[in-house]
Amino acid sequence: MALADDLNARRLARAISAREQAENLLEQKSLELYHQAEERQRVLDALRESEERYRLIVELSPDAILIEVNGEIVFTNPSARLIFRETHHLSLIGRSLASLIRRAQTETDALRLMINPESETEEVAIRLDGSAFDVSVYRISLTYQGQPAIQMVARDISIRKKLEYQLSFQATHDPLTGMNNRSALLERLSDAISYAHRSSLPVWVAFIDLDRFKFINDHYGHRIGDQVLTEISSRLRSVLRSNDALGRFGGDEFIVVLRGGPEVDMSSETLERIMQAVAEPMKIDGHAMRVNCSVGVAVYPQDGDTPQQLLEMADAAMYRAKQSGRNRCQFFNHEIQAQLQERARIDSELNGALQRDEFLLKYQPQIDLRSGAVTGAEALLRWQHPELGLLPPERFIYMAEESAHINEIGAWVLNTATAQCAAWHKSGLGNLRVAVNLSARQLNGQPLIRLVEQALSRSGLPPSCLELELTESLMMSNIELTLETLQILHAMGVQIAIDDFGTGYSNFAYLRKLPISCLKIDRQFINDLSEPGARDTSIITQTLITLAHNLHLRVVAEGVETENQLGLLHQQGCDEIQGFIYSQALSPDDFRKAMQAHDPTRWQRKID
Ligand code: C2E
Ligand code: MG
Ligand code: MG
Repeated sequence: MALADDLNARRLARAISAREQAENLLEQKSLELYHQAEERQRVLDALRESEERYRLIVELSPDAILIEVNGEIVFTNPSARLIFRETHHLSLIGRSLASLIRRAQTETDALRLMINPESETEEVAIRLDGSAFDVSVYRISLTYQGQPAIQMVARDISIRKKLEYQLSFQATHDPLTGMNNRSALLERLSDAISYAHRSSLPVWVAFIDLDRFKFINDHYGHRIGDQVLTEISSRLRSVLRSNDALGRFGGDEFIVVLRGGPEVDMSSETLERIMQAVAEPMKIDGHAMRVNCSVGVAVYPQDGDTPQQLLEMADAAMYRAKQSGRNRCQFFNHEIQAQLQERARIDSELNGALQRDEFLLKYQPQIDLRSGAVTGAEALLRWQHPELGLLPPERFIYMAEESAHINEIGAWVLNTATAQCAAWHKSGLGNLRVAVNLSARQLNGQPLIRLVEQALSRSGLPPSCLELELTESLMMSNIELTLETLQILHAMGVQIAIDDFGTGYSNFAYLRKLPISCLKIDRQFINDLSEPGARDTSIITQTLITLAHNLHLRVVAEGVETENQLGLLHQQGCDEIQGFIYSQALSPDDFRKAMQAHDPTRWQRKID
């Protein structure tokens, strides 16, 4: 009995435990199910939330978002409808994405797309009304409602593109004429050279510089000067072919790049057409005028093979065209090449020449035709170059003028010449006057006045024995400053002479206003006096002398070489002469000897 009880009790206990286990399992399972249901709800919520967020992003996106399935647009967001100008009658739905884009990929875009088909590209899109605009486009593949689809996101970048275009236009074009500027032209030239290299064709680079344009600017003002430049630029455009390039290099300098071709005859006729077009008379703001130009040409491949080289050579050729009388065209040649090399050498060696004591002054006597006496001398600068020998000013002065060297050199000339003249005074050679040439850069107001004061006080030379020679163009370049400076110098007692008269504007109205005491007739006129048809020139010199005398100016004839010239100038009442007929420019020592041997009666003017 006890055994049976015990057995029953154990069975019961096992049954209870099994039930308990079953209950636990059940509880556990139902808990799991509960958690799963909860998790599913959370996932569903999150999905709904994310869908809502996605929908919002898509709906509110400023970018156009379009989805295409099987070649037809099935979804568009409001921006897409707005940007592509959808209307009641014109809908995006049903069209293809391709019909909205005009492929305008750049090479880099195409390359980028090959490497990564989902990258962003800049293209031109077409609105439903047919108008085009710039977009940046991004395409991805996705599944839309269970189907393979393409989503295109397009952003309107037309404002940015326009700005970019404006900036690049400004960076590559001259604002006044709308032509290529320097950097763009260099690029065009370099393209032309590469093309010519591949096809063995020539390229001509023409450097065009307007003659005496500065006069137009000074005389009529910058506004009219600008209009002249614009007019010239449109004339140049009209005579060139479409594959020639044209650019403005600054100021009154234009560059034309002429490209050879199988059908194109490269001849000087094109250049003549250019020069003729420039020289046609024009009327600007009621002013009738005519502008000529000087042209220098360098040819690829014989003259050079880089844009810089060709431009430098065309520039050198243009400079030669100016030197040989302007209004002409000059091709680059070996002589110019040698000149260019010398120019570079002189330019680099000019620096330090003063410290190395390589400059010297020669003095060319001036003779009074009335008394036959030597009245003074013009100080003329020379550079004793260690290898090139004794150089006249033409070989280096313009380079010194382009740099600041001219100020130091000019100061040295003034100090040396005044000291020399004072020394002649002391040694009893008479009350001689010394004439010193000034450069444009030296005519700078106070610094020049101080320089002159110092030179006079250091040397002890009386101010009336110093004459400063200026050219007309130099005075006209800044008439107010000139007038003010010259008035102060004049008040100090210094004399002012106009050099090379007749080669510039020859404006007697200005002469009246400026405190000038002497007019030097340019050598050119004196030279022409010996020519067969000298009658006209002789009328000119006579008129100049008479007009100058009316203004109480002393007249000096420069470059007198022959007895014939001397006789005519005698007759015409010229006051003084300076020229090889009497003497070249002399060293101080030779000048002293010439003075001691001088016979005034040989030069005395016979007064009726
Ligand atoms: P310029 O002031 O008109 O000087 C007269 C030039 O004519 C001098 O040339 C002189 O040697 C030359 N000449 C004089 N008589 C005759 C003649 O009978 N026949 C010929 N064929 N020539 C004659 P140079 O010395 O070569 O000077 C040339 C120019 O250089 C000068 O012209 C002047 O503008 C400039 N220059 C000379 N010295 C200086 C200077 O110290 N400073 C500056 N800034 N310029 C200077
Ligand atoms: Mg002179
Ligand atoms: Mg002169």
